Amino acid sequence: MTSAKTSPRTLLVVSAHAGDFVWRAGGAIALAAARGERAKVVCLSFGERGESAKAWRAGNTLEEIKAIRREEARNAAAALGAEIEFFDAGDYPLVETHELVDRLVGVYRELAPDVVLTHPLADPYNGDHPAAARMALQARVLAQAIGYDAPGEPLGAPPVFFFEPHQPEQCDFKPEVLLDITPVFDRKRKAMECLPAQQHMWDYYTDLAKRRGVQLKRNAGPNLGLAHDTMGEAYMRLYPQVTDTLA
Ligand SMILES: [Zn+2]
Repeated sequence: MTSAKTSPRTLLVVSAHAGDFVWRAGGAIALAAARGERAKVVCLSFGERGESAKAWRAGNTLEEIKAIRREEARNAAAALGAEIEFFDAGDYPLVETHELVDRLVGVYRELAPDVVLTHPLADPYNGDHPAAARMALQARVLAQAIGYDAPGEPLGAPPVFFFEPHQPEQCDFKPEVLLDITPVFDRKRKAMECLPAQQHMWDYYTDLAKRRGVQLKRNAGPNLGLAHDTMGEAYMRLYPQVTDTLA
């Protein structure tokens, strides 16, 4: 389907914590940036309480940890070629409020994203992730309503993709879309390395990208000559694909 929009495409990523957008969607973000698109990450919290164990063990205060994670996330976003906005909404728990949703509506109306990425709606290990997803989805719906009181034009219907959670089987996550991130994997790895607080994740998400790359090749068809080192990211779609040609 063609879009009437003439400005460059835009990508919005709603991330609960400082590292989530890097591990799970860094390839998609880097690909968008490499195409000259505008990519924006909204980071709802720094993951200061729940995803910064190393910094706590080192004896830092809460405010110090927030500053460390902010800097890391900013560097990671820059490595991917994305803008980043921090809502500093607190984590463990990330509490859903209308104020946060309304702020997200403002982002939707300003950015008019063509694609939205966020967490899946189920995660028995981490309530912040589904909370972020629910707020991202609610804000999308409100931003579409002409009568909702926020600056800017009503939003269209950008497709929403859920990125892969850390424990996919427990989160009812099944790869429905496999994205080839081979050309930008180096950038994703560099972005991951901006997050030393979670160094244990670097190799894990490199290995995951290899496995998703193998699956990508298999689903692209046999013997198509794709590079052996294909790297992939997996996504689920929330809303139906809209098309005039099945493909
Ligand atoms: Zn997280």
